[in-house]
Parts: sequence; structure tokens; C-alpha cells
Amino acid sequence: MEYDHDVIIVGAGPSGATISRILAQEGLDVMVFDKRKELGEPVRCGEGLGAREIVAQGIDIPKQCISTDIHGAKVISPDGSEIVWKDKETTGWVLERKMFDKWLMEQAVHKGARVQSYTRVFDLVKNDGKISGVKVTHGGRDPYEVTAPLIISAEGMEASLARKAGFRALSTLYDVDTCYQYEMQEYDHENLIELYFGNEVSPRGYVWIFPKADKKANVGIGIGAHLETGEKEGGIKGATPKEYLDRFIENHNQLKKASRLQDFGGVISVGAPIDSFAKDNFMVVGTGARQVDPIHGGGIALAMESGVMAASTILRAHKAKDYSEEFLSEYEKTWREGPGKKVATRLLLRKVMESAKDDDFNYIFKTITDKDLNDVMAGKFAGPVAKVVAGRPQLMTLLKALVS
Ligand SMILES: Cc1cc2nc3c(=O)[nH]c(=O)nc-3n(C[C@H](O)[C@H](O)[C@H](O)COP(=O)(O)OP(=O)(O)OC[C@H]3O[C@@H](n4cnc5c(N)ncnc54)[C@H](O)[C@@H]3O)c2cc1C
Repeated sequence: MEYDHDVIIVGAGPSGATISRILAQEGLDVMVFDKRKELGEPVRCGEGLGAREIVAQGIDIPKQCISTDIHGAKVISPDGSEIVWKDKETTGWVLERKMFDKWLMEQAVHKGARVQSYTRVFDLVKNDGKISGVKVTHGGRDPYEVTAPLIISAEGMEASLARKAGFRALSTLYDVDTCYQYEMQEYDHENLIELYFGNEVSPRGYVWIFPKADKKANVGIGIGAHLETGEKEGGIKGATPKEYLDRFIENHNQLKKASRLQDFGGVISVGAPIDSFAKDNFMVVGTGARQVDPIHGGGIALAMESGVMAASTILRAHKAKDYSEEFLSEYEKTWREGPGKKVATRLLLRKVMESAKDDDFNYIFKTITDKDLNDVMAGKFAGPVAKVVAGRPQLMTLLKALVS
């Protein structure tokens, strides 16, 4: 069969843009479709990005895509105790994501990839039962078919095409956080991201303040979507994330006087990745595959990292002219042995944290240090757990899953 392209990528977010750049650079004919009218907009993101993974990928983000440099994090417990945590784990940026996503895609276009905005991919094309292309519509008009031996879903949370291809790319309410965010001004800050924990503040989640240039800040919240929110300790009966966020802002000395420049809501996975990432002639990459950090819902760096891994397998598949599930699954194996291990550890930590009461948070945050936080985020739980349990043995019931 003659194909229109070597690869079709659905979605021009960080994962789709990364794959298309690498494939185009190696001479593949890559076509990217995105349903957005303008790439990168509207922004539905806290825009925080850790430097470590991005530097490791050799990506030099230009100034116009960065709003503020971040020098560390401040983690705040329900009673207001703080841990200031400055480390390579917490160094990074708050982006201007609408510029960043567009810039990432422009890098792919410079290498020869083609992208078409305002074009929704709404179905698969099959030939003798084999996936061989997609059906698209530009601006909702005149559907047409485009073919390629390999289709990549880089669709983000929706993952509707991936589901049509037979992937179980659906999350339970338990495994997603529902979010609300304001862009606010004016907010004085110290180039630290601020993370507020506690059931009263944000049941099974946290409130974030991510500072931006011009005294702006992204002030947002994510709460466990499954919760009967009013029934948790200190909760607001039947409340939405917005109501929790509004209450937080009313009680915050600086923010209560600040203006709101933008509102938006969203949903992000904090669960496990989907069961498999590849089938014959089809792959799922990035947040569509639920490759997201279950502790904080960050998915930009993981989407780009998976993009690099997927691209490496695709280049080999292209050379071998083998797009079978067996061949494409090499990407899944590499991912699960690398970033997948970290995601699994973070998922365990999330599940332990969600059973903590406010008093437990207060005690833990008073007992551990920034160095302990480094260990915790690196999956080395034994030292910090021993420290906490030494002073409050009854917390062993809560924390034992981390050390067994
Ligand atoms: C409230 C909120 C705050 C967040 N804050 C952070 C943060 O601070 N830091 C962080 O790292 N992550 C954050 N995230 C997560 C982050 O935004 C995602 O993990 C990341 O964007 C995933 O990249 P991706 O390329 O996989 O998918 P996306 O960035 O979602 O890109 C998918 C693209 O596919 C397109 N698309 C989807 N379906 C179709 C279709 N059928 N046809 C054509 N185009 C299609 C979409 O238009 C979109 O452009 C946040 C998420 C939410 C909801």
C-alpha cells in the first residue's frame, strides 16, 4: 500500500512535538494534526517545569518561553509549618506555555515536520482490519482520510483516538484530580514554588502557587475527583475545587488583595499508566498513556522524555519496516524500566499520603527536613520513615507500605 506519510501524530503538545522533531530530523515524512485553532492555546496548566529532565534532553528553552526561574520549593503543612527545599529536584522554571508549546512544534517544523492546526482527528482508517490512517476534519468541515503505516496518539488526557484503537485510556475518578486555577496579580515572591497540603486546604491534593514575571502567579488546586469532599476532615460539603481555592485565597494575606486575570478548570491523571502503549501500527505517548507524576500531576517533562523514547523505537521500526506490536513494544519496555519505575514509586507514595490526617501532615512536616524530602522523592523512604516513626510510632500503620 502507498501511504501519504511515514508517521501521523495526533496532538502537537510536548509529546507530539518532541517525537515529530526527532523523526523529521532523521528524514521521516511526519504529519502532525492538532484540533486547537492556535497551538499552545488555551493554556490549561500550572506551567511548572523541573530543569533536570529537560537539561538531560539537551533542550535549551529560549527566554521568551520562560516566565520565571524557580530556585526551589516551599512545602507548607496545614498548621503553616514550612520546609524550604532547594535542590536540583526543585530547580526549574514557570513557563509561558502558550509560547513554549508553539516553540517546541516550530523546532519540529524547522526539521521538516508538517503540522496542521484546527484539525480534529476523529476516527481510524483500516485496511483489511489493519490500522492504516486517520479521518480528519479541518474546522469541522469536509472530512477526509490521510494514511500512514504508523499512527501516534499524543492526545493528552482525552485520548479519544487511542480508545478507538482499543487502548483502555480511561481513568477512574479515584485516579484523577480535578483542578481549578487563577492567574493572579500582584504577588510578591522569592522565586519559590509554594505547595500547601492538608484535607482542609485540598482533600487528596494540594494548592500550588507558581510565581510568574510581573508579580503574577498561577494559583491552583487539585483535589481527588472521587471524594465526597464535604465528608473529609475540615471539608466543604459538596464543594468544587473552585470553592476550596476561593476559601484558600480569602485566608491568604497577599492573595486576598490580588486580582484574577484568568480562570480555568481541568483534569489530570494521578494514577497508573495505561496497561499497554503499543498495538500493531499504533502507539500512545505522554499524558494519553497516563505518563504523569502521581504526586503532583506534572506531565510536561514525562511527555517529552517518553517522546524521545518512542521516537527511538519508531526510527528502528521505520528502518525494519516493522510496525508490529511486538516491535513497537520496545518503547514500552524502555519506559517501564526507566521513568516508569519512578512513576510507580510516586504512586505508592500518593496512596500513602492520601490516608494522612492534617495532624499527621503537621507532625511529619515538623520532623523531616529538605534532605529527607530529596530521599522521599528519590524513592528512598527508609530513613525519613524511621525518623517519623521514632517520634510517633502510631504512624507506622500509615507509613508501613513505604518500607515493606
Ligand atoms: C490544571 C492543570 C495543571 C497542570 N500543571 C502542570 C504543571 O505545572 N507542570 C507539568 O509538568 N504538568 C502540568 N499539567 C499536566 C500537563 O499539562 C500535561 O501532562 C502535558 O501537557 C502533557 O503533554 P502531552 O503532549 O502528552 O499532551 P497535551 O499537552 O495535552 O497535548 C495534547 C494535544 O493533542 C491535541 N488533541 C487531542 N485530541 C485530538 C484529536 N482527536 N485531534 C487532534 N488533536 C487532538 C490537543 O489539542 C493538544 O494540543 C497540568 C495539567 C492540568 C490539567
